[in-house]
Amino acid sequence: MVFDFTDKVALVTGGASGIGLRYAKELLRNGVKAVTLADIDPQFGQKALKDIEEEFGPKKAIFVKTDVTDIRQFEDAFKKTVETFKNVDILFNNAGVLNDAIWEKEIAINVNGTINGVLLGLENYLKQYRQGSEGVIVNISSIAGISPFAFIPIYCATKAAVIGLTTSWGTPEHYQRTKVRVFAICPGVTTTPLISDMSGRNLGPEYETIMIRNVDTMPLQPPEHVAKEVVSLIKTADNGTIWVVEGGKPGYQFVIP
Ligand code: NAD
Repeated sequence: MVFDFTDKVALVTGGASGIGLRYAKELLRNGVKAVTLADIDPQFGQKALKDIEEEFGPKKAIFVKTDVTDIRQFEDAFKKTVETFKNVDILFNNAGVLNDAIWEKEIAINVNGTINGVLLGLENYLKQYRQGSEGVIVNISSIAGISPFAFIPIYCATKAAVIGLTTSWGTPEHYQRTKVRVFAICPGVTTTPLISDMSGRNLGPEYETIMIRNVDTMPLQPPEHVAKEVVSLIKTADNGTIWVVEGGKPGYQFVIP
């Protein structure tokens, strides 16, 4: 069965930049009614909103300043989306950071933020569901969550945690109760500020190793490619799928041994 995007509304965390913004646009290209960009950065958020307006016209998106680690702010993003567009059908838990120097914050954003999103998403879907309708949640993991990367252990742990969470939420038993399909996407190195910002962090020799091991040896891909893969994942993949997208190539399923 192919998921129909008509009249669907998406909420995208970390939607002001990188993969999140490209994904919001790809959904609009595929016929969703509207998107909410929920992001902690209002400056990027307003810029992203303008960008969407220029490409798709007015009333297709709103920006809600949201810190995903704060459940009240996250709740507010759902509330404002429902007030403006009537429902939320697709949630992309995409907000994330890569900075082990601030590891408690990194865990809070990458893991707690994802948990907050799924709990609120499920609560919202259960309230709103029209008969026969189905919700979708996509969590963002990373290739770093399933294969060894030097010098970024906390980041790797956060992204492995996202896989663990998704495998439980993605079970048939869970789906039977909620009618919400839950996936995870594991991008390889993608050319967004998350990667380019690393160069400004003065990480010393370890940084060089990170770049050589983690970035320079891996083929880069543009965020637009990841966005397209997430959209096709939603259209046809089975609940619980962990989908790897690397090197700009077609994605493939990661099967936990
Ligand atoms: P990005 O920096 O362009 O986007 C991240 C967005 O998250 C930013 O707009 C930022 O403001 C927002 N954000 C940060 N903290 C937040 C918070 N507390 N609440 C709400 N929003 C917050 O980077 P990106 O590469 O597009 O990253 C998106 C996701 O993709 C991240 O989870 C990242 O870990 C994951 N990822 C990226 C790559 C890559 O190579 N770029 C690879 C694998 C996975």
